[in-house]
Order: sequence, then structure tokens, then C-alpha cells
Amino acid sequence: MDDRAQLAAERLKAVADSIARTAREEGRDPASVTLIAVSKTFPVEAVEPVLAAGHRVFGENRVQEAKAKWPALRERCPDVELHLIGPLQSNKARDAVTLFDVIHSLDRPSLAEALVREMERTGRRPRLFVQVNTGEEPQKAGVAPAEADAFIAQCRDTWKLPVVGLMCIPPVDEPPSPHFALLAKIAARNGLSCLSMGMSADFEQAVMLGATHVRVGSAIFGARH
Ligand SMILES: *Cc1c(COP(=O)(O)O)cnc(C)c1O
Repeated sequence: MDDRAQLAAERLKAVADSIARTAREEGRDPASVTLIAVSKTFPVEAVEPVLAAGHRVFGENRVQEAKAKWPALRERCPDVELHLIGPLQSNKARDAVTLFDVIHSLDRPSLAEALVREMERTGRRPRLFVQVNTGEEPQKAGVAPAEADAFIAQCRDTWKLPVVGLMCIPPVDEPPSPHFALLAKIAARNGLSCLSMGMSADFEQAVMLGATHVRVGSAIFGARH
């Protein structure tokens, strides 16, 4: 292993250890938290050492980038689980359904309908998270908290979509914990068991508030340029 590969493996272990420690402190089973290694913007060479360290769950935020990077890697590691964590345009729904095992950014009826169509066409059914715009930021994707219950019900009842949980990205300039707590509350009252929340800067707080999926990029792969 060269130095860079060694560093990535060490960082991965440090993040995984910290998740496990926090989970145990909260009386949770560490295995109830999935670490999604967010490899967006990083080339295949940066991903390889993390795969070599045995990690199999990865996140990308752009369909095109994932399409260029992952099919070859997956041929070598068929047990990789790939998560789409970025916004999804309806016209990319087909590629997204084909490539990803889990999609975290379902946030509007037009996308739900596009996903239904592509799931029927391809026979693939990626698990879905509904993204909630907990900070109600105009520039950010996600359903408004007040509209979440109705949208979740519509996804389940009208479209029969495999919604497993909720996802949020708190505003950068606010403490994240109230946003994590709000997401957990909306999930609980809708009977959803998965919570995708927490990134490099705040995954421990997210685990304390019930995250089942943390999305960690720079703490594993280093700073993005
Ligand atoms: C980039 C990204 C992350 C990872 O961010 P880091 O701060 O590098 O850990 C997590 N979630 C989403 C939606 C992202 O786009």
C-alpha cells in the first residue's frame, strides 16, 4: 500500500470506530449504523484502497459521475452497495434506478412518478429515502417539513414505492442537532425506521439522535478540490 492508500484506510477505520463508540454510548448496536463512504469527486484510484480495506457501501451525488466510475469497480466487487445522495432530475431516473441500490433524494411527485415508471421497466427497486428540507432553505432540495407526512403517504399508497426512511442536510450555518431531531420525529410518526443524516463534521451527533445511515466523505477521502 502506498502512503495515500494507507491514510484512506486509517481514516476509514477512525470514522468507523467513532461511529461504533458513539452508538455503544447511546445503547445502540453499532451494526445499526451504516457508514456510507461518499466518494464524489474522487477518482477510482482513491476509491480502491477503501474497497481493499473491505468497505462496500459508497455514496455518489451525481448520476453521470457514478455511471463513469462504478460499473468497472463493481465488476471486481459485485457486493458493493451504491447510494445516490444528491438531487435527481426526473430525466436521469432510468440511469439512477439502474445504477443505485438506494436513492436518498426523493422529494417531489414528478420524480416519484418517473421512479415508478423506471422501476416497472427495469424490474429493479432501489430503496428510497424521502429528503426533507428541515431548514426550509429555498435553494435546497427536499419536501418542507409540513408537507412531509402527506408526501410520504402518497409515495406509499399511491405509488407503492419502497420508502424506507428520511434524509436531511441541515443548513451549514446552524447547529445540526435540532434538524436531526426534527427528522427523527417525522420518521417516527410515519413509521419509518431509517434516518440518513450526519456528514464528516457531525456524524457523531447524528448517531446520538438515531441516524441509521451516515454519509461521510472528506473525513475518509480528504478535502475535495
Ligand atoms: C458531499 C456530501 C456528503 C459528504 O460530505 P462530507 O462533509 O465530505 O462528509 C454527505 N451528504 C451529501 C448529500 C453530500 O452531497
